[in-house]
Amino acid sequence: MAIATTNPATGETVKEFDALTDAQLEEKLQRAWDAFQTYRDTTFEQRAGWLRAAADIFDAENERLAELATLEMGKTFVAAKAEVTKCALGCRWYADHAAEDLADVEWPKPKSAPEHARIFTRYQPLGPVLAVMPWNFPYWQVLRFAAPALMAGNVGLLKHASNVPQVALAIEDVLRRAGFPDGAFQTLLVGSSVIEGIIDDDRVRAVTLTGSEPAGREVGARAGHNVKTSVLELGGSDPFIVMPSADLDATVEAGVSSRLLNNGQSCINAKRFILHTDIADEFTQKLVAKFESLTVGDPMDENTDVGPLSGSQSLEELDQQVQDSVAAGAKLLTGGKPSGGAGNYYPPTILAEIPKEARAYYEELFGPVALVHRATDVDDAIRIANDSDFGLGGSAWTNDEAEKERFATEVESGMVYVNKITESTPEVPFGGAKNSGYGRELASFGPQSFVNAKTIWIQ
Ligand code: NDP
Repeated sequence: MAIATTNPATGETVKEFDALTDAQLEEKLQRAWDAFQTYRDTTFEQRAGWLRAAADIFDAENERLAELATLEMGKTFVAAKAEVTKCALGCRWYADHAAEDLADVEWPKPKSAPEHARIFTRYQPLGPVLAVMPWNFPYWQVLRFAAPALMAGNVGLLKHASNVPQVALAIEDVLRRAGFPDGAFQTLLVGSSVIEGIIDDDRVRAVTLTGSEPAGREVGARAGHNVKTSVLELGGSDPFIVMPSADLDATVEAGVSSRLLNNGQSCINAKRFILHTDIADEFTQKLVAKFESLTVGDPMDENTDVGPLSGSQSLEELDQQVQDSVAAGAKLLTGGKPSGGAGNYYPPTILAEIPKEARAYYEELFGPVALVHRATDVDDAIRIANDSDFGLGGSAWTNDEAEKERFATEVESGMVYVNKITESTPEVPFGGAKNSGYGRELASFGPQSFVNAKTIWIQ
C-alpha cells in the first residue's frame, strides 16, 4: 500500500511519501536503542512534564491537527477535534497517575524470610516498543499506547497505517516539541512488509498492534517466535442487546450514535443489534427512521452526521459484504449501495433477518451498517451475542437487575457496558477476548503492559 494522503471526501491523492530506505530504518532503530539507554533513567516527574507539554500542544493546535485527520481518513471535523482533545486528556491522565501505577509492590513475607527481608515487584521498562497502528482513530490509538509506555520509561517506534502519514509525522512532531529527548518517539514511514524484520530486531523489545485480525495474527506470531511481549487490539462485532424494560427512545439514540461513531469505523461500534421480540418491531422502525434522517456528506461541514469511509477499497469491501449478505437471504431495510459520485460515501444501512450463512452474520462490517437480530428471551439474547468469533465489547440495555447481572457475567467479551455504550477512556481498562485480541490498554494496565515486573528479594 502506497504511503500517501488521499482525501476520502474527494478521492484525490494530495501528498505522497517515500518509504524509509533500509539505511534510514537502521539509523532510526539505532537511535531508539541509544535513546533508551538514557531515557530509562529519566524520572517520572520529567516524563510527566513532557507529557503535560504535549497535552498543551494538542489543545493549542487542536483544529490544525484535527483537520489533518479529517483530510486523511474522513472522520467528521467535529469528531476529529474531540479525538485530539481526548489525546490531551490521556496525556494528562498518565502524567498524573502512571507513577502510582508503576510504584514498587511489596509482598507478604514467606515464613522462611528473615524479619528484615524486603520482597517486592519493581516495574522496569523493556526498551523500544513497536506500535503498529490503524487509521481509524489516528491520534488516540497512538497516544493511548504512547502516553503510558513513555511514562514507564520505554521509547516508542510508530508504524502507522499507510493512509495517515501526515498524522503520524504530526504526533512525532508534537512529542518532540513537548521536550521528549531525541529518539524517545519516532515515526517510521514504512509499509507492513518490513514489520517482521523490525520485530526480529534485537533492539526492539515488544510490539503492540491495533488493527485487523489477519494483521494481528501475523504480528502476534512473529512476536511469539521471538519470545517478545505483544498486545493485540483487533476487530469486533459488538452486540447491542435491548430488552423490553429499556427506555426505548434513549436506547435508539444511543444505538445510532454507537453504530455510526467514526462513520461506522470503530472497533467498538454497536454492530449487532439483538432485540427482544417484544420491542423488536418498534425499535427497528425507530432505527430506520433515524438512519434515514441523517446527513451524509462533507466531513468538514459541521452539519454532517456521517462522512466518507476511509478508502475506496473499504467502500468496495463493505458494499460487497452487504450484497453477499442480501444474496444469502438478509433483508435490506434501508441504504445498501454506495452513494455514488466522488468520495467514499455509503449511506447508513440496516440489514435484518440475517441467516447464519450470510457474511454479515459472522464477519465484522467496518462501516455504517447495522445488523438486526431478534431474541426470544434473555438466554436467546446471550446465545446470539456469543455466537461470534469476536469478543471485544458489548452493551446491554435493561432495567431488570437480574438481566444486568446475566449480561455482565455471560456475554463473552473483554468489556460489557450496561445501559451505556462501550467507550475508550483513559480511566477504564480496554481490550478484547476471543479473536478480538489479548492484553489490556488504559487504566493501570497501560503503564504495566510493557515492563519487566521484576521480583526483588533483599535480605
Ligand atoms: P489493518 O490491520 O489492515 O491495519 C492496521 C495496521 O496494521 C496498519 O498500520 C497496517 O499497515 C498494518 N498491517 C496491515 N497488515 C499487516 C500485516 N500483515 N503485518 C503487519 N502489519 C500489518 O487494519 P485496518 O487499517 O483495516 O483497520 C481496521 C481494523 O482494525 C478493523 O478490523 C478494526 O476493528 C480494527 N481495530 C481494532 C481496534 C481495537 O482497539 N481493538 C481499534 C481500531 C481498529 P498498512 O496501512 O501499511 O497496511
